[in-house]
Amino acid sequence: MPHNIAILGSTGSIGTQTLDVISRFPERFKATVLAAGSNVEQLIEQAIRFRPSLAIIADESKYERLREALSPLGIETAAGSAAMADAMERPDFDTVVTATVGYSGLLPTIRAIRAGKQIALANKETLVVAGELVTRLLAESPTRVIPVDSEHSAIYQCLVGEDNSTVSKLIITASGGPFRTFTREQIADVTPAQALHHPRWNMGAKITIDSATMLNKAFEIIEARWLFDITPDRIEAVVHPQSIVHSMVEFIDGAVKAQLGIPDMRLPIRYALGDATRLPSSERPLSLSDYAQLTFEKPDPEKFPCLTLAPYALNRGGNAACIINAANEVAVRAFLEEKISFPQIYTTITDALAAIPFVNTPTLDDYVATHRAAIAFSEEKTGCKMKLR
Ligand code: NDP
Ligand code: MG
Repeated sequence: MPHNIAILGSTGSIGTQTLDVISRFPERFKATVLAAGSNVEQLIEQAIRFRPSLAIIADESKYERLREALSPLGIETAAGSAAMADAMERPDFDTVVTATVGYSGLLPTIRAIRAGKQIALANKETLVVAGELVTRLLAESPTRVIPVDSEHSAIYQCLVGEDNSTVSKLIITASGGPFRTFTREQIADVTPAQALHHPRWNMGAKITIDSATMLNKAFEIIEARWLFDITPDRIEAVVHPQSIVHSMVEFIDGAVKAQLGIPDMRLPIRYALGDATRLPSSERPLSLSDYAQLTFEKPDPEKFPCLTLAPYALNRGGNAACIINAANEVAVRAFLEEKISFPQIYTTITDALAAIPFVNTPTLDDYVATHRAAIAFSEEKTGCKMKLR
């Protein structure tokens, strides 16, 4: 029997690579639910090829087109973000790949946890926005989370067979993004086209901009704090421009374990879909002799102030990281639409942190309200309207 899988964000970078992995192991995996944001034509093509039981489009204005194309094939259709969350309770799949962007991952992930589904977690923003709440829900549920983010997958792999109490430090590698060698003055004037040109990874636009500001690394520190239940002072980021060492774990005896590989998200996707086991790859394996050197350097928070937001958010707790995430979602869009400059991504976030009321122990409703308030505040500040909510 194949393992039945739901993919939230099937038309994106992680979503399409997940479908690629599924297509290579047809006796092992079946895509049972496909959900996309607004790219209805691509979703239809995917549904025709993979024949899921259900296809969902978050953008309700595209529903008629989806229904008309897929109902003759006997494929159920639905629209809206509530439908995506409701689908998490279906009995016809056991694993969900959360690969939508930003806050949109939170509510479906919570529903999936409540339904006891296994989660292949790509959407790191879920743990950024509400890490404490999600971790608490996970503790009460049979759900297992296997990270897809390459750094966290690497750490997960390094921890296999180890006693977690012997971990002294997690070392998260960062490519440094396209502006690693730029001066502060040069960074001030970069264009969206420059920021969208990531040196190592081919990813969706939002995470590519997050990599350029290095907020992505701050998010990954927050993600690691919750995934591996480790205090923030024991998580370190190190810049490794070749992106071959995907992350490391240091143990109390001084040993450091690392996971290496070519930069290809299909490895962590295969590992997560395969329940943390190893499936064969048809890609060219890593050949270390192709690399004259692997280098490591300290990240520079003076040049990339978004890095300081991880210690800030983790020390402050409450809804601080939720505010950061929401303001960043708007700021990234505003930068891409050339409404604000690259450095203003950071100041949009700090302005929101100053303006939105702090909540010390947020409930789910508090997170939802905080997200909405920070989005509205940042939209007003930048003059940029978000499309899908
Ligand atoms: P993409 O932008 O490439 O894809 C996003 C997907 O989510 C698309 O299918 C999009 O649909 C859908 N989507 C967007 N907004 C919504 C919404 N509001 N409701 C429902 N669906 C929506 O992103 P990536 O694949 O790059 O990233 C996905 C997640 O994985 C992010 O959280 C990112 O941080 C994380 N991640 C990505 C990595 C990568 O290599 N790409 C690496 C590590 C983590 P449509 O296109 O149809 O509008
Ligand atoms: Mg990553």
